[in-house]
Order: sequence, then structure tokens, then C-alpha cells
Amino acid sequence: MTADMSANQSVFKRRESEARSYCRGFDTEFVRAQGSEMTDRAGRSYIDFLAGCSSLNYGHNDPDMKAALIEHISGDGVAMGLDLHTDAKRGFLEAFEKHILAPRGMDHRVMFTGPTGANAVEAAIKVARKVTGRSNVIAFTNGFHGVTLGALAATGNSYHRGGASTELSGVTRMPFDGYFGEGTDTAEYLDKMLSDPSGGIDAPAAIMFETVQGEGGLNAARPEWVKRMAEIAKKHGALLIIDDIQAGIGRSGTFFSFEDMGVTPDIVTLAKSISGFGLPMALMLVRPEHDIFGPAEHNGTFRGNTHAFVTARVAIEKFWADDAFQKSIARKADLLTRALEEIAGLVPGAFLKGRGMMQGVDVGSGELAGQICAMAFDKGLIVETSGSEDQVVKILAPLTTPEESFVKGLNILLDAARDVTTEHKIAAE
Ligand SMILES: *Cc1c(COP(=O)(O)O)cnc(C)c1O
Repeated sequence: MTADMSANQSVFKRRESEARSYCRGFDTEFVRAQGSEMTDRAGRSYIDFLAGCSSLNYGHNDPDMKAALIEHISGDGVAMGLDLHTDAKRGFLEAFEKHILAPRGMDHRVMFTGPTGANAVEAAIKVARKVTGRSNVIAFTNGFHGVTLGALAATGNSYHRGGASTELSGVTRMPFDGYFGEGTDTAEYLDKMLSDPSGGIDAPAAIMFETVQGEGGLNAARPEWVKRMAEIAKKHGALLIIDDIQAGIGRSGTFFSFEDMGVTPDIVTLAKSISGFGLPMALMLVRPEHDIFGPAEHNGTFRGNTHAFVTARVAIEKFWADDAFQKSIARKADLLTRALEEIAGLVPGAFLKGRGMMQGVDVGSGELAGQICAMAFDKGLIVETSGSEDQVVKILAPLTTPEESFVKGLNILLDAARDVTTEHKIAAE
């Protein structure tokens, strides 16, 4: 880093809150981004395997979304419209209905919440409680649902929970699929506890989980488990909420992470990549019979980010009108698995996690995973960790990453893992 650059960056350290996070691990100043690459002030380019934490599934500055947005702005299209009817909102809803909901036989209503994932989760929990007249929500080990108080109550991570400094209530924690290893069926465990009048768990308003736990270490639930959860929810009068904020929008291989599992969640939350362009936008899908909030009962000034509607429409029309994109995700996911197997082979005891284009390697310790990511960054790759101990090196490359850049990025990661594990061996001797 040049002296000039650190001088320019000192305002971050001087003025930006200690709560800043990603910028600490990737300590440079980014000035441009296109596709799967980001460029810093010094002109150095990086392959982006973080992709705004899966908010950029279609990469940075997709040319068609960008063109539509520029056209909208230069034509004095509505920028801020509360939740007024606008052409931009109509365009999104029509495309979403035509290409996403209708082909999947989903009769859900779309409720625009505040523009963060956490706000969509808050709305989901609130409406489930209102529908059932119950307060308890079943959430799972390693689940991450956001950090506002209601969503945080459902989040497992103790560091994030600690930030609340108040009681986080109304949630019962249960073991996620595979939590106790292969021998224990955690769905059976939940069903038995809920069925026992002396099981001690209050009748739940909802059962809520991610099918692949994004922040929680890429634990992927088996389809049978997801299906069982849907049955258990139904049996016990609870709504099934699938938080698809990170695993959805193609990340796990299909538009919704639960497709092909034979379940229809009562509620689905979407955020992160729904705008397609990295703009703030979140929504909740809710079965019509549960769509019982009154006007503005779950209010919010920014429930309609018109710019996000414009890019979200283009994203849906461009990538989801046929199955070509989905097929390309499957091919890339296979490539990813093979590369990660090679990386796992470098670290004794390491194993693969996740599915689709949200896979990673559990290297056994947060320290080692952090060192691999830091070394990768030195070599021009942006990649992050996940998991309860940050022990999983997690790949969230844009789904549109050209194969050449994808392979290049994976090779950088392999090199980084090799360098770090060799150093470890030398230090151990
Ligand atoms: C990121 C995330 C959230 C929270 O979204 P924010 O926009 O950060 O509030 C909730 N659930 C899941 C699964 C997430 O990955």
C-alpha cells in the first residue's frame, strides 16, 4: 500500500464506527466493479468470491440492469414512491408472477417490507404470530436471520446475540439437520417434543430455517428433513417459514432453495440478490390465507425501492425466463465441488460443506480459515469465512462468473491454501 493510499483511507479509521467489519479483512479502497471483479484505487483488480454476501448473484453492474436503471433515471422515472403504484413496481410484479411464481405453482402474495433481510424476517415472524395467535417460534442451531431484535432472537450466533444486551425472547432453539451427526434424526426429536404435552415447548407460531445455512457454516438440510419440517409444522398448527435470503435467487442451484423438495412454505423471505443489482430490496411471500396484515400494519418508508424494482425486473426476465441459467449454475457448482475437494485434500480432516454455488471447506479452525482468506486476498481474491468458529472458507462467487475467472479464482484459493498449510507444517516442526 502506498503512503498516499493510507493517508486517504485514514478517515475510515478516524471516523467510521468500530462496528465496520468486512472492510477490515479487505483493507483497500475499491473504486470500480464489473462482473466478477472489483478494482481498487491502486488499479489492482480482485476476483470477487464474496459477491456482497450473495447480494450480487448476477455480478457487479450487469449491463442490462444498468442500462434500464440509467434509462429510468434519465427519464425522470419515480425514484421514491413509498408504496404507491408505479410502472417500476408493476413491471417487477408482472415478471415475478410470470417467470417465478406461476411456473412453480405458488399462489403467494408479495409483501414489500423495509429494504433489509432482517425487516422481511421481522414481518414473517410477526405475521405468523398474528395468524396463529401464538408467540413461540422454532428456530435452529447456527441459523442466521438478521440482527434486529425479533430476527436476532431467531439467530443462533452468540456474538451477534450479545449485541442486543437485552432479552431475546419468543424463540425455542432446536438442533438443525445433522447437528448431532448422522445417527440422530433431529426432525423426529422436534416432533416428539412438540407432541408430548409435557415436552415443555409452547405451541409454535412458526418453524423457521434456511435450507442451507449461509452464515452458520453452510450446513445443508437434506430434502427429506425439509419435507419432514413442513409436515411437522402442519401437524402442530405452525407456519413454515423458509428464510431464502441467502440461499435463494439461484445461489443453491434453483431460484428457491426448496424447489424439488416437495414443500410449499407458508412464508418465504427474500432479500440480498432479489434486486439483482445489489440495491436494497426485500420482500416476504405469504400464502393468501395468511396475508392478514392490515394496511401499513407492518409499515416502512422504504418499502418500495423503485430503482431496485427496475433492476429486479430485468434480472428476472434476463435469467429466469428459461432454464439455461439454472443449467449453467449446475455446471459451475460441479466445477466448484471438484476444486474444493482438492483444497480440502491439503488440510487434514477438512471436508466440504453446502450445495450449489454456496459451498465451502471446513478447515477445522477459524484461525486457519482466516489465514487462507487473508492469503487469498494478497493474491487478488476476495473470499470470506462462515460458521460458528469462522472455520469454513465459503465461496459465494457471482453465478454469472465466466468459467475462466472462476477457475482463476479457485486456483488462487488453492495456492493460498497450499501456502498457508505449508507454513503451518513448517511452524509445527
Ligand atoms: C443476510 C441474511 C439476513 C439478514 O439480511 P440483512 O439484509 O443483512 O438484514 C437474514 N437471513 C439470512 C439467511 C441472511 O443470509
